[in-house]
Amino acid sequence: MNLSEQRMQFVLKLRSNGVSDPAVLAAMEAIPRDAFLDGIFKERAYEDRPLPIARGQTISQPSVVGKMTEALELNNRCKVLEIGTGSGYQAAILSKLARRVYTIERHRPLAQTARAVFQALDMGNITVVTADGSMGLAEQAPFDRILLTAAAEDPPANLLAQLKPGGIMVLPVGQTDTVQALIKVVKTKDGLEYTELGEVRFVPLLEGVAKDSEH
Ligand code: SAH
Repeated sequence: MNLSEQRMQFVLKLRSNGVSDPAVLAAMEAIPRDAFLDGIFKERAYEDRPLPIARGQTISQPSVVGKMTEALELNNRCKVLEIGTGSGYQAAILSKLARRVYTIERHRPLAQTARAVFQALDMGNITVVTADGSMGLAEQAPFDRILLTAAAEDPPANLLAQLKPGGIMVLPVGQTDTVQALIKVVKTKDGLEYTELGEVRFVPLLEGVAKDSEH
């Protein structure tokens, strides 16, 4: 199968693997995942699998991207913060459904590559920041939605503080060497409401900006 045939099969595969929101499926059909991958991995872009990217990191599994995006209940007024830009693929999907996306990555080269892909795809509503995302992005807070694509042991307090009332945060929680729980947190006027959405496996949320020597 060539890439365009694979792209046609992609949405069917996402559906059968649990993604059902038509707007999310349309966004995922519109974004070329191969643009976020290098070399030989481009050929495998439309498989429902996580794949390696630079700096020892991974692009998430598409059906997991879809489920996390659904859980955020986005609309075109939302200002979204993502922690863990990685390849930029998840941020690109968010940018189709939200007004504005800020995405933070601790590996500068990954942030630079993602920025170049967004520019090539003409996505003007995404800002990539190189920083420790667990601190959030105070100068743009508060956010309607916050998504972590790296696993934390607990929802980071800084991020909860930067979520608007009525806002939604989605994150993998748990020890990083085991399966983690995908959690949805809704900030209501009576406090935080937690829902478990299933099991996932993400790289850990690490402290600080990565050194050039770190892989
Ligand atoms: N959303 C990505 C996949 C994320 S992989 C995609 O669509 O491709 C997780 C990413 O989180 C990695 O690139 C890792 O470097 C980054 N990360 C881990 N801890 C972080 C932190 N504290 N701040 C910012 N980025 C972090």
